[in-house]
Amino acid sequence: MNAPRTHTPLKQTYVDLHIHSTASDGSVSPLEIIQIAEKAGLGAIAITDHDTLEGSAEALRYQQGYEVEILPGIEISAPFRSGTMHILGYLIRLDDVPLREALEVVQRSRATRNLQILAKLQNLGFEVTYDEVFQVAGEGQIGRPHIAQALLRKRVVQSIEEAFVRFLKQGGPAYADRYRLEPAEAIQTILHAGGVPVLAHPSSLHTENESDLETVVAGLKELGLKGIEAYCTGHGFARTAQYKRLAHRQGLLVTGGTDFHGAIKPAVHIGVGNGDLRVPYTVVEELKRAATSSYRGKAY
Ligand code: AMP
Ligand code: ZN
Ligand code: FE
Ligand code: FE
Repeated sequence: MNAPRTHTPLKQTYVDLHIHSTASDGSVSPLEIIQIAEKAGLGAIAITDHDTLEGSAEALRYQQGYEVEILPGIEISAPFRSGTMHILGYLIRLDDVPLREALEVVQRSRATRNLQILAKLQNLGFEVTYDEVFQVAGEGQIGRPHIAQALLRKRVVQSIEEAFVRFLKQGGPAYADRYRLEPAEAIQTILHAGGVPVLAHPSSLHTENESDLETVVAGLKELGLKGIEAYCTGHGFARTAQYKRLAHRQGLLVTGGTDFHGAIKPAVHIGVGNGDLRVPYTVVEELKRAATSSYRGKAY
């Protein structure tokens, strides 16, 4: 056995803790993501695929060959008001049985939901076959962005955004719901797996104002939430500062990442987002302190 790798960056190092791979709706494989991050000189990354551990599991198998530190991660979708809340989970044990079982239920429901969307599109006069979607998605989990890409390929729409606006958005004519873990279940499942639950991109909650957001965050903290994603593509300096203050008031840590997806969001790049995102390595140290697992920098 090799001695466990120690990660002690000497200079200011930046990280990207929100990355999607081909295991969900990203277009870049875990190995390529590691190579891009390594080349960019990032100190750490986390692959946080939607409702699946496969992206992280694959990435961690390559850890020994690379300097960039890889943290286990996931992004779990939960219903929130009329929309969606995303809960990130870091430093989870990838072999945790309740976590795996919960995700299997979600994944089965996603597969059924995808077929319902295709049936609705067909009723609307836009035939997209499962094969066509599979060609876009590859082996990983299939999501609405893949169906959007298939519609784009068939020139039914001119952009991914148009596919969502016309058909796929929540409440849209081809939308079908799927089973999702409630926020409380997502948080508890991550905690049980030794991980650190973090509210992803708080702006996507579309809360009414700052005080509404604070009430929501305080409620999530009661459920076990430990952090807020303050640094995120598109948040800008003022928003990031606002979320950091909120985190501080609530006694929560902050994390950050680009929400890189590759082809479906081509303007977003690993490590820098739209160009100016910089997430300091200190967020990783905070995560490790918060982890309920006995994280010691070992491969999971
Ligand atoms: P799914 O998990 O299959 O329901 O798909 C959700 C994913 O679709 C989100 O994580 C986003 O990446 C993407 N998405 C949702 N709404 C939009 C939108 N309006 N435009 C582009 N992508 C979107
Ligand atoms: Zn996504
Ligand atoms: Fe998200
Ligand atoms: Fe994401």
